[in-house]
Amino acid sequence: MKVAVLTGGVGGARFLRGIVDAVDPATVTAIVNVGDDLEVLGLSVSPDLDSVLYALAGLGDDERGWGRADETWNALATVESLGGESWFRLGDRDLGLHIVRTQALSEGAPLSTVTARLAAVLGVEAAILPATDEELRTWLDTTNGSFPFQEWFVARAHRDPVDRVRFEGATDAQPAPGVLDALHEADLILVAPSNPFVSIGPILAVERIRSALERRRVPCVAVSPLIGGLAVKGPAARMLQRLQGGTTATHVASCYSGLIDALVIDEKDAADADALSSTGVRPVVTNTLMRDAAARRRLAEVALDAVAFA
Ligand code: GDP
Ligand code: CA
Repeated sequence: MKVAVLTGGVGGARFLRGIVDAVDPATVTAIVNVGDDLEVLGLSVSPDLDSVLYALAGLGDDERGWGRADETWNALATVESLGGESWFRLGDRDLGLHIVRTQALSEGAPLSTVTARLAAVLGVEAAILPATDEELRTWLDTTNGSFPFQEWFVARAHRDPVDRVRFEGATDAQPAPGVLDALHEADLILVAPSNPFVSIGPILAVERIRSALERRRVPCVAVSPLIGGLAVKGPAARMLQRLQGGTTATHVASCYSGLIDALVIDEKDAADADALSSTGVRPVVTNTLMRDAAARRRLAEVALDAVAFA
């Protein structure tokens, strides 16, 4: 059985760890958001690809949910003391990877090739693919102006209420090599419990990825990033309220209209199940909080089995 997983960073990476624990990692392909990517200090940084890479390589910081475990911050402290750009948190070990990636990209290697090389060196068996090799950038139109993703998310702490999410470069972006094959060959497509607007949205903004999902012949199962109508972390609930009109399971599913067959929701949202069901999306109710390895694996198993729950 082959599985393709659409994913963002923190929530997605946690879920992917459960997936590769539950099935043979070699049968798993992660299709990862690149709308958050940025250039900082002259380096090409791909935060969601790195969260997934570090998580699957066993190098991630569990507590923080992003970056590497055992991290130190000497380079950034030096940057700051020299008056350099220091708003985007980059640890010393993390910086090493960005340097290697930036050099490879500047020599002309596509992001997908660079990512595959890094994954191989780090012993990751699952395939990690950027949604696209082309430049696709998420922008937020807010009540206080328009901002590139990281400026809104990190520098402004995602406080500005969002009226619209835009994906610069998405219209012409082609899926990275391997993405469409993974979707076509998959026996099951999963959407990780990632932010629907700014993590999964940019992936679906690539037209040929969206149409591959629309025309899928296999089930697609999403996992809600909300528990009790609230995000575990980040702006997902606030965005759902403002952009989708509410935070129930049906509101989450409406972000994936026509694209999913089932939505895994938390026990705390069990009251939403009937309404969701009446929209044609099968609700699967379970504990979705991934607090440890056992919980991650259990959630992965429920998502993998969701279509058999009819
Ligand atoms: P980002 O790219 O780093 O912002 O990460 P994602 O978009 O992949 O994940 C962010 C989402 O993960 C948030 O909306 C969280 O609510 C969700 N999330 C984090 N941990 C958990 C968890 O244990 N269970 C569930 N259901 N969602 C989670
Ligand atoms: Ca992200």
